Amino acid sequence: MSIDTVSLSGRKKEVSNKKMTFWESLYLVAIGKGLLITIKHLFTRKVTIKYPEQMREFSPVYRGQHMLMRDDEGRERCTACGLCALSCPAEAITMKAEERKPEEKHLYREEKYASIYEINMLRCIFCGLCEEACPKQAIYLTTSKTMVRSNYDRSEFIFGKDKLVMPLDAAINNTKMKMAN
Ligand code: SF4
Ligand code: SF4
Repeated sequence: MSIDTVSLSGRKKEVSNKKMTFWESLYLVAIGKGLLITIKHLFTRKVTIKYPEQMREFSPVYRGQHMLMRDDEGRERCTACGLCALSCPAEAITMKAEERKPEEKHLYREEKYASIYEINMLRCIFCGLCEEACPKQAIYLTTSKTMVRSNYDRSEFIFGKDKLVMPLDAAINNTKMKMAN
């Protein structure tokens, strides 16, 4: 067997240069075959869904948009240590640390807090390493249906504390549920 005829994949086909018959040159059979394939797909189960009207079932381990958590008293847990930013393979996290003032004890749990905390969602690959690195259980990738929405403006993908910090009423509800159990 010559090396030209060996097919490693087994899918190699010889190209035929034989002249087409009159009926073949009309392409009617070929068009008919193509239409049959199209019609067959009309009756098979669709793999696409009509998003956003329809939503797929989310996996229990789905990693959605990040949330900066509050503690049971509604104070921000993040102490701006920077470990999440260091562990981020996409270098998506930036922050600025500030010292907590005595009158801010009801706002921030630790003596240091992030006055600026930003995640570039265009860089983020939702790997969850920031969540694993955090020693204060301050950052979570939500398992709910909260996902990062598409946008036309790149600057809209820089998520600051206004979009990341857990809403205060959600923290209060969490505390109430814990006390009820
Ligand atoms: S999920 Fe991964 S890529 Fe996204 S901010 Fe966290 S560590 Fe970085
Ligand atoms: S989210 Fe966690 S790891 Fe990141 S700066 Fe805040 S406390 Fe540190």
